[in-house]
Amino acid sequence: EQDEDKLTEYLDELEFLAYTAGATVEKRFTQKMLQPDSKTFVGKGKMEEIRDFVKENEIGTVIFDDELSPSQLKNLEREMEVKILDRTNLILDIFAQRAQTSYARTQVELAQYEYLLPRLTRMWTHLERQRGGIGMRGPGETEIETDRRIIRDRISLLKEKLKTIDKQMATQRNNRGKMVRVALVGYTNVGKSTLMNALSKSEVFAENKLFATLDTTVRKVVIGNLPFLLTDTVGFIRKLPTQLVESFKSTLDEVREADLLIHVVDISHESFEDHIASVNQILQEIDAHRKPIIMIFNKIDDFSYEKKDEDDLTPITKKNISLDEWKKTWMAKSKFPTVFISALTKENFPEMKKLIYDEVLKIHISRFPYND
Ligand code: GDP
Repeated sequence: EQDEDKLTEYLDELEFLAYTAGATVEKRFTQKMLQPDSKTFVGKGKMEEIRDFVKENEIGTVIFDDELSPSQLKNLEREMEVKILDRTNLILDIFAQRAQTSYARTQVELAQYEYLLPRLTRMWTHLERQRGGIGMRGPGETEIETDRRIIRDRISLLKEKLKTIDKQMATQRNNRGKMVRVALVGYTNVGKSTLMNALSKSEVFAENKLFATLDTTVRKVVIGNLPFLLTDTVGFIRKLPTQLVESFKSTLDEVREADLLIHVVDISHESFEDHIASVNQILQEIDAHRKPIIMIFNKIDDFSYEKKDEDDLTPITKKNISLDEWKKTWMAKSKFPTVFISALTKENFPEMKKLIYDEVLKIHISRFPYND
């Protein structure tokens, strides 16, 4: 049953991603298999079921929750005769829509080309085989080579461009002087921008969609006479495409170079513990997991649970745990300073500010030992 719950949560998230990209979901299909089919990801029967549904209801796109191999993508497209997207593709699409600065656009474009390159190759080989025969081979091959070369050239160009901007940004970060730097990290949509706004009284774009923030924003914040720099970073997500981790290097540098991380968690979300694990994993990947961290559990105003009656003998599940019980568990379990708040209603803000103040002060003192 727990597996079923996970599956539902994963598909909920995929549906939310689809919604963010501007699509509405008509139907979900799932299949239990030990291993995805190497040719078509789903089994033959399932594929026919999906294809029939697509035909009958004039569906435009089929989205898969995993990254499809180039050949799976091609085979599915040929069998179903609709647009096939995988999770990576969908996330890249959302990033492309949301990139606002030329820097973010360059990052996304690079990630898209890197995604496309191996798929383009297979696509052409596949077409080639279909056309077959003598005569087609020559021009076909030239075409592939030309296309591949164009894309490779474009990729090197974009990388050069990013390198230049990376250098500029590194200089900018250096010029910010010795002020303590704090970075907000967390799963996408947990309330980082809302918290940023509340703390800095600025207007950072917050929206109930995934990845509202692609570009980092830096604001000066003062708590009790103590100034520090607060950075909002791109939201993390389960199975963040590797192309994106790489091309968002500079955005993640903000995290890597921060003195203190504030890990924001959406406690009202059923999968919040999975989200914490995903974020920790990415922090580890970028080697930022040894920094001081403050855990902020947000959205307590929106928290709900199914209270069990005393004579209810069914086993306790996560859904039956109250906020107080979560607090006790996490306060005991977390090695980091931990606080439960609502960025919306500002509940427990004084307590949170005190925590941040104490941590920032520690770093500040270690940096300016001669000040009192
Ligand atoms: P980000 O992606 O982590 O930057 O998240 P946002 O700040 O954009 O917030 C995502 C959504 O959660 C928005 O609709 C916010 O209004 C909402 N939100 C943020 N904080 C809270 C909170 O404390 N309580 C509730 N109920 N909603 C919140």
